[in-house]
Amino acid sequence: MKQSILAAYLGIFITAALSFIYETPDEHISASPLPGSAVESTATPSPLPSQNPAGEIIRIVHEEEIFELPLEEYLLGVVAAEMPASFEPEALKAQAVAARTYTLYCAAAEKHGEAQVCTDFGCCQAWKSEERMRQDWGDSFDANYQKILSAVYSTAGEHLTYEDKPIFSAFHSSSAGQTEACGAIWSDVPYLVSVESPESEENVPGYISSVEISPLDFRDTLLHACPQADFSGSEDSWIGQLTPEKSGRVDSIELGGVLYSGTRLRELFSLRSTAFTLEYTGESFLFTVSGFGHGVGMSQYGAKLMASEGSDYTAILAHYYPGTTLVS
Ligand SMILES: [Zn+2]
Repeated sequence: MKQSILAAYLGIFITAALSFIYETPDEHISASPLPGSAVESTATPSPLPSQNPAGEIIRIVHEEEIFELPLEEYLLGVVAAEMPASFEPEALKAQAVAARTYTLYCAAAEKHGEAQVCTDFGCCQAWKSEERMRQDWGDSFDANYQKILSAVYSTAGEHLTYEDKPIFSAFHSSSAGQTEACGAIWSDVPYLVSVESPESEENVPGYISSVEISPLDFRDTLLHACPQADFSGSEDSWIGQLTPEKSGRVDSIELGGVLYSGTRLRELFSLRSTAFTLEYTGESFLFTVSGFGHGVGMSQYGAKLMASEGSDYTAILAHYYPGTTLVS
């Protein structure tokens, strides 16, 4: 069973490597830690279980060392690092379940050999120690910690499955109207399809961002990635056809006669997402980007908005991971 899971896991990356024309994308699973984690919490915590639910022991790689924590205690540090404590309690619960599911998925896949997960958000999930929470939250520590504790412990043991296995519960910061289908970045997964997501410029800080690059840097970066591109013509002839994904993100753009995938361009120019436009202004090349993250799975700001409009965490999870089952 472990071998088949590992094979499936490797298959995601092998297929991803083959599906792109040039280079394997270096995309991560979780969202990067969101800004605003230090915002004071004002919500009333939900009732807690009478006992610390603990859970199985998880081995975690942190700064090249391995340490152990009970699953539910580890998740306190993940939720605290991945989502601002100011978010709605139901959004925090959805985050707790997504993080627990991803941890179980990694454990089954033996992603880190002797350990199950690492604390690098570029690889697995962000995590912060209680000491770091105290530093970041200051006087709000008690209220924020209680809120995170409530989200994790009130959902203790709950995780999402598909065909009786923990799912690849990718999540990200914010989407541009639609989430991304997993197959656009890795390989197709039946429960990671493109769905609507309610967040927008009006309710996400820094939702629209831009990256402006000189023609010389633009050309050199693209040539370094793909030497057969031809930028001998004038700058205003360099941008060719843009092919969108069904989600509206960029699948590929022809630049200098060569197709570059949206994910590759995101890497090369440090774009916050693949939901972007590209234009030549007459002086520079300008990317205008919407949202933040790879766009696959649960949008954290989408979860926040759904919660504020009355959805509970089970509805949020069912929306972003359709066809999955929530089990204890
Ligand atoms: Zn990792």
